[in-house]
Parts: sequence; C-alpha cells; structure tokens
Amino acid sequence: MSPPRRRIGRFALPLPVHQEFDYRLPDGAELQPGVRCRLPFGSGFKTGVLVSVEDGDDDRDGLKTVAECLDAQPLLSASVLALARWAADYYLQPIGEVLFLCLPKALRRGQPARDSRFTVWRPLPADEAALQALARRAPKQHAAYLALLDDPQGMSAASLREQLGDWRSAMRGLVARGLAESLQAEALDWPQQEPDFPTLTAEQQAIVERIEPQLDRFGSHLIQGVTGSGKTEVYLALMRRVIDAGRQVILLAPEIGLTPQLVERFRRRLGRPVLLSHSAQSDAERYRSWDAFRRGVAPVLIGTRSALFSDCPDLGLIVVDEEHDPSYRQQDGVRYHARDVALRRAQQLGIPVVLGSATPSSESLYNLRRDHAQRYWLRQRVGGGRPPAIELLDVSQIKPVCGCSPRLLSAVGRHLGDGGQVLLFLNRRGYAPVVMCHQCGWQAQCHQCDARMTLHQSLNRLICHHCGSQRPMPETCPDCGAGGIRHHGVGTEQLEEFLGQRFPQVPVIRIDRDTVSRSRSLSVQLETLHQGQPAILVGTQMLAKGHDYPHISLVGILDADQALYSSFYRASERLIQTVLQVTGRAGRSGRPGQALLQTAFPEHPLMQGLTREDYDELMQPILKERQLLGFPPAARAVTLQVDALSLEDALQRLNGLAGQLDAHGLPDGVRRIGPIPALMTRRIGRYRAQLSLLAPDVARLRQALKPLLPSLLRPRNRAGSRLTIEVDPLDL
Ligand code: ADP
Ligand code: ZN
Ligand code: ZN
Repeated sequence: MSPPRRRIGRFALPLPVHQEFDYRLPDGAELQPGVRCRLPFGSGFKTGVLVSVEDGDDDRDGLKTVAECLDAQPLLSASVLALARWAADYYLQPIGEVLFLCLPKALRRGQPARDSRFTVWRPLPADEAALQALARRAPKQHAAYLALLDDPQGMSAASLREQLGDWRSAMRGLVARGLAESLQAEALDWPQQEPDFPTLTAEQQAIVERIEPQLDRFGSHLIQGVTGSGKTEVYLALMRRVIDAGRQVILLAPEIGLTPQLVERFRRRLGRPVLLSHSAQSDAERYRSWDAFRRGVAPVLIGTRSALFSDCPDLGLIVVDEEHDPSYRQQDGVRYHARDVALRRAQQLGIPVVLGSATPSSESLYNLRRDHAQRYWLRQRVGGGRPPAIELLDVSQIKPVCGCSPRLLSAVGRHLGDGGQVLLFLNRRGYAPVVMCHQCGWQAQCHQCDARMTLHQSLNRLICHHCGSQRPMPETCPDCGAGGIRHHGVGTEQLEEFLGQRFPQVPVIRIDRDTVSRSRSLSVQLETLHQGQPAILVGTQMLAKGHDYPHISLVGILDADQALYSSFYRASERLIQTVLQVTGRAGRSGRPGQALLQTAFPEHPLMQGLTREDYDELMQPILKERQLLGFPPAARAVTLQVDALSLEDALQRLNGLAGQLDAHGLPDGVRRIGPIPALMTRRIGRYRAQLSLLAPDVARLRQALKPLLPSLLRPRNRAGSRLTIEVDPLDL
C-alpha cells in the first residue's frame, strides 16, 4: 500500500531571492493561499506567505514541516496574490519582497492579524428610580453613566480615562447592572455632514458622461488640465458613482501631494470615511487603514505608491493623480512603477484607471495610440484666472547677483510693490554647491561619492546630497592650510538669505527638502501665503507638487539651462513639466501673472517653445526624438547595475553577462548599451557600472533577457558585488 499523498505548501519569504520555498503542511490542515505561516528556516524561523498548495512527494530530502499557521483566513486575496506575482515576474523582483509590500509591518514580522476596531461603551436605557438608587449606592457608577449619556456614539477607553480617571471598575458595575454595553467600533473619522458637491461645469460634466458608461470595464482615461481646472472634482464625481455601487476606490497621489486639505475635501464631498496610507504615518495607523480597507468598511483609500497593493473586497476604480510624478517610481528596494502596476491591476480586474495631470508623462502620451487609452481635456480654470505668460530673460551677457539678473530683481520689486506675491524656482538646495580653496584649488569632495559637498551655512557643515555624509565646514584649506576657502554657485538657502536682505519688508518662505522636514513651521508660513499679503516663495522641485499658490503674480525660474547640459535623456521632459507645473500652480487671483525664465540660450527651440506654454506642442519633438533614438517610451528598457568594491569588479561581472548575451545573439531590434561605468561611478563608497538593453517591445525584451535569467534570478551576490535589476528604469 502506498503512503497517502500529502500536501506541500509553496511559500514566499521576505528574502532577496527569486525563489519560493516548499514545506510540508501539517496533517489535516486546509490552508488557503494568502495565509502566513511560521516556518523553520536555517537555525531559526521566518514568516512566510503561502502562495500555492500542491500534492507532492513528501519524502523529498530536507522537506521541513510548517511550524505554525498564523492566520485562520487569508490576509491576501487571490487577486492581490496574482498582482504581486505579475509584478515580481515583470519587474524581475523577488516574489517574497513584493508580497511583503502588500502587508503592514506588524504582519511582516509575524504578529497576529488583530482586529483594528476598538472597544467603546454606550449607555443602555434606565428608569429614573434605578438612577436615583444608583446615585445613592454607587456614585462612581452614576457619574460614569452620566458621562456615557453625553456621547451616544460611545466612549473609548481613552476618553473615559480623560473624563473619569479610574473608570474600569465603575464600567464593569454598569455592565453587570445592564446599564451599559461595550461594542467594537471602527477607528474611522466619519464626516458628520451630508455629502456636498458643486454643480459640475459643462466641460467636467462632459467628461463624467463619457467615462461613466465605461466604468464597468478596463480602460485608461487620461484627464489633462492645468491645476485648478477641476480634475479633482471629476475624480470625485466618478468615485461617487463607484462607491454608490458598493465598490471601493484607490486614489494615488505623489509623496508630497497628500495634504490634509485634500483628504478633508474628499471626506466632505463623499460623506464617507476616507482612509490614508503614506510613509509619514505610524505603523499602527497604517495597519488600521490596511485592515479597514481590506474589510471594506471604508470605500476610499488615498495613498502614495505602495497603497496600490492594498486589498479590498471589490475594487471598482483606481485614480492616479499627477500621474507624471517621478515619485511613483520606487527607486530602492522593490523596483516598480505604481502607475504601470495600477494599469495592470485594473486590467486584471476589468476596471478603469483615471490618470490626471497638467503635464502627462511621455508614457501616457505614447499610450494614447492604444485602444484602451483615451484623453479628455479640461481647458479652462474653474473661476477664471490664467497661468502667467512665460517670457525669456537673456542672461548670456550679464552677471547675475545671487542667481538673479537685474531685470528679474526689478520685476520682483515691482510685483511686491503692487501687493503681489513672488515665486522663485531654483532646483538646488543648500547654500552653495561648490566649496574650494583659492590658493591651491582644493575642492570639497565627498569621501564616499564622486560628488561635491554642498555647503549648508545654517549648520556650518558640508553635506553630500547623494549619501548624506557630513563634515564641518573647514576654516582653513585641508590641503595647503591657507585661509582662502570660498564658496561658489547659489542654492536655495543662499537665495533666501539674499532676498531677505534685499526685500526686508516682506517674508521670504523657502520650500525644499531641508525645510519640509520641519513641516509644522512651514505650513504656518504657507498659511500666511494663502492670506495674500506680499511675500516671496523660494524653492526647489517641491514647488511643482502638492500646493497651489493662488496669489502669486510673478514666477521666476533661475536655472532652466541645467536641463540643456544634462545627460539624463528625460531632462527636457522634466524641465517642461516642472516649468509648466510651477507656473500653472500660480496666478489665480485674477491679476494677470508674469513668469520670467532666465536662460543663456533664448533662441533654443525648447526655450522658445516654453513661451507658448503648449504642452503637447512641446512634447511632440521629444516623442519624435525618442522614437528615432529608440528610447522609452518608444522602446522598453532594462538596466542591470552592479555595485562593487572596485570599478574593475563591477565591470567584470557585467562583462560576464554581456558575454552570455553575445553567445546567444540579441533578437532583432534589441540593443545593448554597456557595460559602462555609471554616471556617478562611486556612490556611498561603492563603484557602479551598468548594462542596459533596449527593445522595441516587452516581448523582445523578455526574449533578449532569457539567456540571462538563470544568472539574474539566482544572482551570486557577495559583499563585494551586488546586482540590481530595473525594468522600465527612469534613467539609462
Ligand atoms: P484640479 O484638481 O484640476 O487642480 P480642482 O478639482 O481642485 O482642480 O478644482 C479647483 C478649484 O475649483 C477647487 O477649489 C474646486 O473646489 C473648485 N471647483 C472645481 N470644480 C468646480 C465646480 N464645478 N463648481 C465650483 N467649484 C469648482
Ligand atoms: Zn588650499
Ligand atoms: Zn557622498
């Protein structure tokens, strides 16, 4: 008689390996994919997620048995498991790491999946005589009962403690007498008013009417319109329809776009609880959102990129706001693009994706050629107002003062004098990007990176913006000992100081990564900006996100020329997006705005194009160029990057991979770039080189990669050399 066949579970573990692990399942256990188990691993234990169950041969050597099943019910639905599997496969990322993205931290660590609801106490009806008796015999219980009467929603342990001090024994007494009950409540902010919606404009209404009949199927709907043109109201109108049908919605926003005002607006409009998920939340808050969305008690989840992997009973719509924003691309850990995974998830579920932007990504513009992608325009701002007109300021013949040409400075003075607000954009934080000795030419270089240190004057320190390492600003030259150390170039910190001296009568507010981390004081400052008094706003790329600046009447762009020198193939696209985003967030106060763009190349077609402010016209030559060069989005790319203890080691390992590619020959139309040293070869003490493949389509890219898969999926990473794979990288 043959032994009964046993069941074998295949598990994903949070390890950087492209492999699943088999374990014997305990006898009689009916485990479903999506549960977590404690698994013996090495000399200890690890938490793994069951991904499939198979009949198998349990005599296999070394097959261990699951130590413990941690969940009675799957934590991840079949559809999220399928999505994670697709993402792992498409992006060539380890399945365990992708799956663990879908779980909150406590669950990754193997803690029990507890209910995120909490206990509240409510009063039960009592007659007058009983209450009088209670007041005489148990005054503490009587006081507790009166407190409960004030809050018919129920009181939490925290508010009972606050009002009554030591309350537990009194509450036990009330429950025993049948005068109070405890129940589980959802930890949700529930808006108290009826949903309130504006009447849509004709343009908005037309878009809603075109998309509405398509809500029951997959499709990619791109809404293009400047800030303030009413995109969010269109999302809300569509979301309401999906929610009314009993389904859920995920809305993704860029890292910094998630402002409390936005969330409040969603709650108010929808009259329903709205959950949040972003990295600034505590682990407990994230857990609560994850759990409540999964149980379907709140119909909307708003979050940054990883919110996309959240589970829910019946997802009906995904919205990606500011879809061009680079923060949707995860640059470390598991590498994926949230917009693209959103499209995939929608396709798997047969639901629509709504993308919104004033400056759609080249990918989304390119996708418009596909059947499932459509575009809708919002051409007018609600309530009028126009983005400021862009003029070029030729700085080829002049020497700017602190980055500002005299004409720019006089325009600043004029606008402030007229009661306006001014925004100056400079994409470089810190005080000065170069620190050097005028005696011997010494420059402050990072010891770990091929990069200069930036002077941060307020800290009197030099900081590397690539690895974060710091050291004090030297008083004398470390090489020759001379005292002639000077700084060159201008960062936002210096610009802020200069403008403060030049225009002492108005506040100067700086927005960059250094000030945003102290966000409380910043939001107070932004509040003054919203009141409309004259002020100057100075900042980096961050100005192009999240906030609107309705009272700005002058925008100055200080260093547009950087993009012309950049070797980043998306530099022009990024410049166009930034300039149009920054200017588009300004000037809604009715007074006609002005934008001045400083450039030493005013005849350059890109600069000329910017003055016409027509995004599609600006992007056309860029898309054409990408097509000619065979670059994304007209092609698909993968980058293999190795970082090692020496450049030779890094190149050698990539040469090995290149050799394998050569041995098989590349499919038609596939190109190889490299191995070459990465642009910044040394970073955080490691030397980096890369090899990229470009293919006309995904199928050919996969075909080209095929011979490499064994090496890529079982990389022999040693401390000395690490391989990173990026599919659809932003840079090559
Ligand atoms: P976007 O998302 O394109 O920046 P919003 O949807 O936020 O635009 O709209 C900009 C402003 O105009 C918001 O204050 C919004 O409440 C208001 N608004 C939008 N649509 C309407 C409408 N149909 N009626 C009245 N106000 C509207
Ligand atoms: Zn020196
Ligand atoms: Zn560094």
